Amino acid sequence: MTETLDIKVTKVEQTRLTVTDFSQLPFGKVFTDHMFLCDYQDGEWKNPRVVPYGPIPMSPAISALHYGQAIFEGIKAYRLPDGKISIFRADKNFLRFNKSAKRMAMAEVPEEIFMQGMATLINIDEKWVPAQEDYALYIRPVMYATDPYLGVRPSDSYTFGILTTPTGKYYSKALKVKVETEFTRADDGGVGYAKTAGNYARSLYPFEVARKEGFDQLIWTDAQTHEFIEEAGTANLMFVIDGKLVTPAVRTTVLDGVTRDTIIQLAKADGIEVEERRLSVKEIIEGIENGRLTEAFAAGTAATVTHIGEISYQGKDYTLTDPATRSVSNSIAKKLNDIKYGLAPDTFGWNW
Ligand code: PMP
Repeated sequence: MTETLDIKVTKVEQTRLTVTDFSQLPFGKVFTDHMFLCDYQDGEWKNPRVVPYGPIPMSPAISALHYGQAIFEGIKAYRLPDGKISIFRADKNFLRFNKSAKRMAMAEVPEEIFMQGMATLINIDEKWVPAQEDYALYIRPVMYATDPYLGVRPSDSYTFGILTTPTGKYYSKALKVKVETEFTRADDGGVGYAKTAGNYARSLYPFEVARKEGFDQLIWTDAQTHEFIEEAGTANLMFVIDGKLVTPAVRTTVLDGVTRDTIIQLAKADGIEVEERRLSVKEIIEGIENGRLTEAFAAGTAATVTHIGEISYQGKDYTLTDPATRSVSNSIAKKLNDIKYGLAPDTFGWNW
């Protein structure tokens, strides 16, 4: 970080902490007392501030609403055994945020605003970081275009914000997933690698169809052939085939997940061979049938490591191995958790 920011702080009069039930935390519904905001106007970032969490006044003409110039990130902060708080690999999220900004023709956020804004907010709301097992503070940086102008062009003004929400486990059981072969999430030359609002908007209808059919998630396939696996809705996909960790290579259609990268590094450090490559649905299905595919999981900040229990492809269901027997993913998930929660040495320097 290059300079120290002067962040104006306005605190709430009354905390909501005392009326929040930490044993009932649905994902993304309970927000901490404060939020961080900063505006981009006339080519400059201005007025970094921490204010009470609440509605933000806006013009109904802002271009984010009409043309979708909006991006976000997802990061987690953990309570360590000594009571301190650690934010996991936020430097990676910062870089990805600006990669998304660039692709969406938005202003890039300076590192000190992203990182110090986050640290200041979390210090102020530090009592909101849960200490229970498997709990964390989910951090949601977001930026949207604020020009009140209906012309189609990149906005000249933006608001960058950070919201925080205490959270428990995102998924509590092995997932039943459907290989999607009709709709697509992303296409070559598109914005799949950016964490931009429209990617999630376009996935909602296919996901609703799948949900009504009884599935928890989708496995997206490539737009041209629907023969190759890309990722899940909010997580990357990883498989163990012949004892190797295999995951679709990152392309313009696939988000470069921080958890994915973390798991690849942990696996390699454990001497597990890792393959990042094109991965066909056929290889997955055959692998389940002939027993060479022994594990499958979704990897993401919210999902952490979530086992896939059943894969459905073209109307046929394939049941995978019992999650309890999955030595590679269970061992990596434990290593990852131990580092995040400060129960094992942070040899990679991931905790901030
Ligand atoms: N793919 C998509 C589409 C996602 O939204 C996410 C969640 N950010 C991921 C993958 C996993 O990325 P990460 O590990 O950085 O959370």
